[in-house]
Amino acid sequence: MNPCNLNQLGVTRAAPWAVGHFNIHNQEFIRAVVKAAESERSPAILAVGMMSVKYMGLEPLISACRSISRETSIPVAVHLDHARDLDIVKEALELGINSVMFDGSSLDFEDNVEKTTSVVQMAHEHGATAEGEIGIVPHGTASVSQAEMTDPALAVEFAERTGVDYLAVSLGSVHGMKSAGTSLDQGLLQQLHEQVPVPLVLHGASGVIDEQITMAIKNGIRKINVNTGLKVVLKSFLSKRLTEEPESDLLEDLGQGIDAVSESVAVRMRLFGSSNRT
Ligand SMILES: [Zn+2]
Repeated sequence: MNPCNLNQLGVTRAAPWAVGHFNIHNQEFIRAVVKAAESERSPAILAVGMMSVKYMGLEPLISACRSISRETSIPVAVHLDHARDLDIVKEALELGINSVMFDGSSLDFEDNVEKTTSVVQMAHEHGATAEGEIGIVPHGTASVSQAEMTDPALAVEFAERTGVDYLAVSLGSVHGMKSAGTSLDQGLLQQLHEQVPVPLVLHGASGVIDEQITMAIKNGIRKINVNTGLKVVLKSFLSKRLTEEPESDLLEDLGQGIDAVSESVAVRMRLFGSSNRT
């Protein structure tokens, strides 16, 4: 069945757990996530973001994700993260990606509805799922303004008009945080979960404290995006290793790096409640 789309991972709007979306940048990250999925018996999402496409190329990343995900029987989806133009969505779907996120959060509402609707149509024609975004999850700032948070009425209208399968919302988290210190607006999340007819997505989870993640799952988050936290794990592991063992074989260093990232992914799967779901 692998790779599969988000609807085939087993998580639903009513499920009391969330699936982890882990950004991958090269084969080491892909192997780390798939290894954790196997050891935890947890479904997982391999996410291809725009910085990684610039670094490795769209086709090499998608084909590595597809090929490595076929090594396991645990459900694994390959997902395009934060696409901002329709051409890359089309190209990724033609290359066999299973899910796409269109980020129209910087567009005005009608433009976001229009572009996201065409992404949903393209995705569904390919048997893929689609995620959209309402509200703004900023990059690298200290906090989220009230105006950037998701408005429940707009979120409902957006989900109904576009037909998205998943909806990313802004609750107080910020992209690119190297450590966790952020809390979320849990009251707003409860309101969104009650009103929006599709599962909700949390972006910027590396910066959110564990207790807030647990509460967010209780209040309706069903997909959690993790990127920066895993980069930090690999970088700090390798810098320590290269200092302590300067004569070691590079492949051994990278192999142990995969294990370090995999353990960090497994910890998050347990936190998200997705372990032992398959
Ligand atoms: Zn994001």
